Amino acid sequence: STQSRSSAASDVYKRQTPYHVTIACLILLMGLTSCHRESPNPPVNLLIIYPDQMRGQAMGFLGLEHVKTPHLDQFASQSLVLNQAVSNYPICSPTRASFMTGQYPQSHGVWSNCNSLSSPFNYELPTDAQCWSDVLKEKGYDTGYIGKWHLDNPRVPYIDVKNNQGRVKWNEWTPPDRRHGFDFWYAYGTYDYHNRPMYWSNEAPRDSFHFVDQWGPEHETDLAIAYLKNKENKFRDANKPFALMVSMNPPHMPYDLVPEKYKSLYDQVPLDSLVQFPNIPDEGTKWGDYYRKNIKNYYAMISGVDDQLGRIMATLKSQGLEKNTLVLFASDHGNCLGIHDEISKNNHYEESMRIPFLIRWPEHIQPRIDDLLISTPDFAPTLLGLMGFHEDIPPGTDGTDYSNLFLTGDGERPNSQLFMSVNVGKEALGARGVRTHRYTLMIQKDLDKQDQVELFDNQKDPFQLNNLSEKQIEIRKTLTKELEGWLVKTKDPWL
Ligand code: CA
Repeated sequence: STQSRSSAASDVYKRQTPYHVTIACLILLMGLTSCHRESPNPPVNLLIIYPDQMRGQAMGFLGLEHVKTPHLDQFASQSLVLNQAVSNYPICSPTRASFMTGQYPQSHGVWSNCNSLSSPFNYELPTDAQCWSDVLKEKGYDTGYIGKWHLDNPRVPYIDVKNNQGRVKWNEWTPPDRRHGFDFWYAYGTYDYHNRPMYWSNEAPRDSFHFVDQWGPEHETDLAIAYLKNKENKFRDANKPFALMVSMNPPHMPYDLVPEKYKSLYDQVPLDSLVQFPNIPDEGTKWGDYYRKNIKNYYAMISGVDDQLGRIMATLKSQGLEKNTLVLFASDHGNCLGIHDEISKNNHYEESMRIPFLIRWPEHIQPRIDDLLISTPDFAPTLLGLMGFHEDIPPGTDGTDYSNLFLTGDGERPNSQLFMSVNVGKEALGARGVRTHRYTLMIQKDLDKQDQVELFDNQKDPFQLNNLSEKQIEIRKTLTKELEGWLVKTKDPWL
């Protein structure tokens, strides 16, 4: 009987062998298609183009605004376009810190813009933050940063340049130990004179910045092109993969600082055709006139940025880098330009929150438009995931790695995006909200004042003219509950 049991066991073993093989094959197949992807071989390069204050609606191919973006239109046809991407906290520093760290402001601590008003509260990117650039550096990448950084507090004595001469000081040098893994550095904190920008290059000490007599995006693109061409290995180690971020200031104000060749693209466009949206205030009002005064130059700036995108993409192609470079085009926030009587951003309206998000990786990411509710903290983990570094996503990351969804179209999708806005030193107050595919809810909390609530049905009312907060009580309740989920998740003191 022992023999027969042994023989039976052996039979079972034999029968199980193909079963194990099947499981192994299944795991292998799953690995190929989903969570256990290998790092791409050769490693993929990363290139990020990140203009400032470019609203997501202002791209020609979307057909929403009469803005001329031929290069973006072509780029979009080769990219995954996330047409519901938003900035959670639509101002510079909090969002830039969220991009670098994959965290919400509640985690990275950049609760407002870095400037002399907020510096006593220490709102700047922590030196020990784990940024995507730190990870890539550790993984053997050569890393470069060109343009606006705006993640350091201005220090005394303030650097004696424009942007530091008003009541509030903005600009600061980034010391090498605060550059988060970037090998090549050509940047500034905040400096808005686009026709004569200033920079600190790699080795320049704090007092050795220089000025350039060229439009900022054009100059930065010249440098990005030189970095990509890398003649005589002057810019990077040609044996390593690279990651380069080009952070352009336009279309940030002042809007008139844009070359004539881009302004002239709109000379023949009737102004009336650019002011058709019902949420643009009337002519003769302060913000209605502001919109009319600036919209052509705003579009001219976007066309200028678009031109630079074209130059960079042409260089990738001529250098044989086009296929093996992941290219992301996005912005830190949008721009109301007077819509809803708002000068620019820092509010929950669509023009302020919505940002471009286009990502291109030939033969890996299928070109398409997708309404995924992505927001800024998701960028870093998703990029690291796409590049094969799932295991290296820093443990403090709040955002979601959507790389699998980008590559396959499948995966869990969020129901909403968080919105927030904080006054300096008042982290437990200010505005919080959520945006879903259909609705935007915003609750403004101040001391000694009733909460101000706005609720919009963005499908029925895309220009957000009808506040439903007192009419749609059930929807308001549901969305408030959704918001609470975010506030618990982010350990927000506002709750
Ligand atoms: Ca900005």
